[in-house]
Amino acid sequence: MRKINKPIITAAVVFPVCVSTVGNAAFRARLTACQALINAAEDEFDNKITKGQIHTIAIETLINGNVTNKELKKLYTGQMVAKPQGRVYYDKLISSAPNGLCPLCSHGEATTLDHYLPKTKFPRLSVVPVNLVPSCKDCNTGKLADCPSGPNDETLHPYYDDIENVKWLIADVNRTTPLTLTYRVSPHSTWSALLSARVASHLDCFNLNILYASQAARRLSGMKYNLERIFSSTEGTPGVKRYLEAEAVSNEQVNLNSWESVMYRTLSEDDWFCSGGFRSIAS
Ligand SMILES: [Zn+2]
Repeated sequence: MRKINKPIITAAVVFPVCVSTVGNAAFRARLTACQALINAAEDEFDNKITKGQIHTIAIETLINGNVTNKELKKLYTGQMVAKPQGRVYYDKLISSAPNGLCPLCSHGEATTLDHYLPKTKFPRLSVVPVNLVPSCKDCNTGKLADCPSGPNDETLHPYYDDIENVKWLIADVNRTTPLTLTYRVSPHSTWSALLSARVASHLDCFNLNILYASQAARRLSGMKYNLERIFSSTEGTPGVKRYLEAEAVSNEQVNLNSWESVMYRTLSEDDWFCSGGFRSIAS
């Protein structure tokens, strides 16, 4: 999970721009009358996200007595995504993803916006920037739960949570044939019980342990030949360790907790792997 600066743009700017491109005057007027409720929803989200209280935000189907959740959902797809005036903000939010990578998984291409709280259940947050997180398609569509049922279920939010500077992702080397890696969370000593639970929920919700294990398996196959070449030369086991260590250091400069950083670091410290265990990698 990567940290992104919270967007400067607010619902007070985005909502009226999206509403201004609605063709039907009566519908436009109904939407305009919702502005204060949209702003209040933004404030509530901003207040509760850092306190483990997001799950207390009420699910709604009708706003201001006459705007449905479907209509506000359509405001997102029809005006913010599809109309140039709203698209400016859509594109701006996506472009905040570091290196164009999805901040939720740190792996896929950020090509879409994920509603942290789904627009069907929380329509007032449909076009509210703090609820819109740059995301890859897999993270956006593959979430296991679409809204938290308690504080421990609240997945990490890139605009509010920052766990980049401590190591929290661990890989276990399974000495199976073929060799595999299993990823898991190792909560940092400075973390609260709530943060530890949320990081674990984040990995589960986006199936990141499965994603990371399969990516690692592919990368391992790709480097098997090279490891054998180094091991069989005069460099031997120390050479294999040096190669993996150098890759670990290089990847850690970018992201301490990427699946690549953790894979290379773990393997470089595994004597069994470096002294020939790598031959169990699938070809
Ligand atoms: Zn992703």
